[in-house]
Amino acid sequence: MSDSGDLHLHPHVALLPSAGMGHLTPFLRLAASLVHQKCRVTVLTIHPSVSHAESQLISRFFSAFPQVTQMHFPLLPVDPSTAKSEDPFWLQRDAIRRSAYLLSPLLSTLSPPLSALIYDEFLVSPLIPISTSLSLPGYTFFTSSARMCCLFASLSTSVADKINSGSYRLSDHLEIQVTPPIPVSSIPPLFMNPNSILGTILKEDSREVIKSNGILINTFEMLEQDSLDALNKGRVRKGLPPVYAIGPLEPCEFEIGERGLPLKWLNDQPAGSVVYVSFGSRTASIMEQIREIGHGLVGSGYRFIWVVKTKEVDRDEEEELHEVLGHELMQKIQGKGLVVKHWVDQSEILGHKAVGGFLSHSGWNSSMEAAYHGVRMLAWPQHGDQKINAEVVEMSGLGLWVRSWGWGHEVVVKGEEIGERIKEMMESESSSLLRVEAAHVGEEARKAVGVCGSSETTLKELIQEWNDIK
Ligand code: UDP
Ligand code: UDP
Repeated sequence: MSDSGDLHLHPHVALLPSAGMGHLTPFLRLAASLVHQKCRVTVLTIHPSVSHAESQLISRFFSAFPQVTQMHFPLLPVDPSTAKSEDPFWLQRDAIRRSAYLLSPLLSTLSPPLSALIYDEFLVSPLIPISTSLSLPGYTFFTSSARMCCLFASLSTSVADKINSGSYRLSDHLEIQVTPPIPVSSIPPLFMNPNSILGTILKEDSREVIKSNGILINTFEMLEQDSLDALNKGRVRKGLPPVYAIGPLEPCEFEIGERGLPLKWLNDQPAGSVVYVSFGSRTASIMEQIREIGHGLVGSGYRFIWVVKTKEVDRDEEEELHEVLGHELMQKIQGKGLVVKHWVDQSEILGHKAVGGFLSHSGWNSSMEAAYHGVRMLAWPQHGDQKINAEVVEMSGLGLWVRSWGWGHEVVVKGEEIGERIKEMMESESSSLLRVEAAHVGEEARKAVGVCGSSETTLKELIQEWNDIK
């Protein structure tokens, strides 16, 4: 039978990510894994993307997977007044939500007809009527932790009313049946503001998510057993659809750009000697904090690779590195580490034997990449879901979290303190325990996505379900 004939026997799945590398990357990794499981895949893409990194990744993905259909999704113009935000990623997410009605005619023309539609966690309520009208099973892909999903799923309950009415104290814990309970101090600050558009959207989506056929999460059972049980056994919210742990989604070959200086530099460093520092794809740090981090790294005595970001969107980065760091710090850094102010292939770096620790904002993709490579972390949550993710990192033994550092912009953490904590991660007595525990998490992560692992089996069963309803 010809290849195209054969593909008619397999389910056809469409994927719709929202804006930002933290969403696009896991979606494209999932797409790659569905292709490997012989699914027919369509990915909906938006032009222009918010960041340069997104457009690069999209083009590399389609070069690597010519068999995947790229469907262009034309959006209504962005509108700061409806988005009530100036954040370019939220402006685009709002435009996608308002344009969702344009999807029905597009999706219904696909051949062979779709078996399932997987949409981003920030697009739930506008996408449910679309999948319903096309009689298509619809799945929410939650790109953060299962623990964060427990909070998301509770936003349509009395927990959210209490958050919004300000009746909690910061020292309280939420009445969500997950162990250990979620501290109020870990809630994303934007949720505490009853007027924030994000809070409104997520509340609406939380209410509607029970109409999805399932929720996919980039996590694995060993890492988040209790949160997954709480979600699947109705402890968080009655009526939730099945929650599928399908992670860690494996980093793919197509993500790798030109192998640049970081990899060459790492090749010359001893095993486990380097600290990698990055706050993800969309967190800009203030100048004062950047310089303190620089002094902390130098003071720690460890070698380092440090990605500096001064703008949320990569296209806006203008200043040269020496302008940001200043002459004195540039001099001090010489010969001690590598500092860059551009995109790096993070997963390649984390997978390099020279890297021994990761100072991270604990974005969920970064945390899962550290887990996958068994690299210990020093979590420094900056905003959003990151404190809740840091709790997972800490509980699993994958890393440390210094609570007194607060959210990113709350305090400027001094270089000396940063240096001490890096040493603690890399060399203290507790660090050898940390190294063993992180390596164990890494083994379990590989097992989960390996042959007959929990996540591999879950994804296969899901594909089988799509096959059966075809
Ligand atoms: N990333 C990367 N190189 C960079 C910055 C980020 O490869 O220079 C990747 C990182 O590996 C992860 C994603 O971008 O896959 C960031 O997602 P995460 O959820 O960690 O954080 P966000 O950027 O959404 O805050
Ligand atoms: N958030 C979430 N899941 C995610 C990322 C973020 O639920 O995967 C929540 C988080 O609580 C945060 C809010 O969405 O308060 C906005 O996050 P942000 O705009 O930083 O999202 P990102 O672009 O980093 O995914």
